[in-house]
Amino acid sequence: MTTPITLNDIQIYPIVEQQGAFFKALEFFPKLGQELLDENRDWLQPEFIDPNGGVVLCIQGFVIKTPHHNILIDSCVGNHKTRPTRPFWNMMNSDRFEKALGGAGLTVNDIDYVMCTHLHGDHVGWNTRLENGRWVPTFPKARYIMADRELAHWTQREKENPASCPWITDSVLPIVAAKREQIVKSDLAFSETVQLLPTPGHTIDHFSVLVGRSGEDALITGDMIHSPIQGKYPDLGMLADYDSAQAGQTRRKVFDRFCEEPTLLCLTHFPMPSTARVRHWGDGYKFVAGT
Ligand SMILES: [Zn+2]
Repeated sequence: MTTPITLNDIQIYPIVEQQGAFFKALEFFPKLGQELLDENRDWLQPEFIDPNGGVVLCIQGFVIKTPHHNILIDSCVGNHKTRPTRPFWNMMNSDRFEKALGGAGLTVNDIDYVMCTHLHGDHVGWNTRLENGRWVPTFPKARYIMADRELAHWTQREKENPASCPWITDSVLPIVAAKREQIVKSDLAFSETVQLLPTPGHTIDHFSVLVGRSGEDALITGDMIHSPIQGKYPDLGMLADYDSAQAGQTRRKVFDRFCEEPTLLCLTHFPMPSTARVRHWGDGYKFVAGT
């Protein structure tokens, strides 16, 4: 069994599908530049940037076990999905996701809710699985929580240009067709201990998830940040941002708030163990070890 993060009567389990340097830092962060990268190599390398200049990223979701629900936050890349522009995610056939669920003592039948922080391909893949040539919900009992403007945005884009977002076709729209979606505002108070926090910019209606009670809580960031270099330089955008300027404002606003708090951050794309507390660092922020 995996050791969870425990917050009173709530456990958080990382569900890791992959970790690797899938992208070159200079392409992933288009405005980074060689000079700034070299200036920061001593603290980034080898944990966050590999010797070849690749950004080390974890692909993971988190399961939140509360006394009432098992909630999966983000469902990684998934199996058998055609991803022509992402060879490392194309037609994956891996048992790591399911094994990680097993490490939390769960199967797909035990998930009550899937929360999609946003609708990018590395966050919605296991929403569906292939059954007799059809995409069906992976988690048969789950409601899938998606932000209203996020779903509307991607539904429209898929209609106009399906080739630009195949993950919407195979991992989001089949959930809607199966009537398993629960469309919400991105500031939803889901329960006494699970609160959505709007963190727009990376996508149009991205949310993060605050779990626990004040003084003993954790923030599942989703993709409001990808790598700690965006802590030191909060305005540094990444290649798939919807609005990088807004994403930068979101980082400043959220990190300013949690610099003063004991809140543990679960930083989805940071390499394992992916948890830290955030503190001020010059004009930006640093992440200090935390469990
Ligand atoms: Zn992502």
